[in-house]
Amino acid sequence: MRDLNELFLHTLKDVLYAERQIVKALPKMARKAETPELKQAFEHHKEETQGQIERLEQIFEMLGKAPRGETCEAIQGLIDEAKEVMEDADDPMVLDAGLIASAQAVEHYEMARYGTLKTWADQLGMREASALLQQTLEEEKKADALLSKIAMAKPNRKAA
Ligand code: ZN
Ligand code: FE
Ligand code: FE
Ligand code: FE
Repeated sequence: MRDLNELFLHTLKDVLYAERQIVKALPKMARKAETPELKQAFEHHKEETQGQIERLEQIFEMLGKAPRGETCEAIQGLIDEAKEVMEDADDPMVLDAGLIASAQAVEHYEMARYGTLKTWADQLGMREASALLQQTLEEEKKADALLSKIAMAKPNRKAA
């Protein structure tokens, strides 16, 4: 990679791969979740994630590049951890607390990525791409805040 354009494209591919993994993981997490609010939050974020993938695809189109992902080891690790929690939790409220923790790790990864990508899009003068990335960043922040709210309301207290 020789310049910011190439680094931007590389990171777009990374996050596209991540979103495609997340959209597959969320329905499994929704099925496992005990608390109805948590189940609903995962289902809702799955729908949002589909829209986020479409925004990324639009940016690839603006760049005249094929929307091809590139393996992201970070998201693979985070999703593997979520699977571990789903297998190992012996109590439903412990399971929900663990699912929330895993999901928040994913949201924070995404917030870091979209924050960086948005800044780079601004530096590269890509105003439309910047606006799309900002929209997704806001959704990730909201998803994270909702998970905190659900955790405070129930799973953490009961698990304790
Ligand atoms: Zn890479
Ligand atoms: Fe996302
Ligand atoms: Fe990555
Ligand atoms: Fe997300």
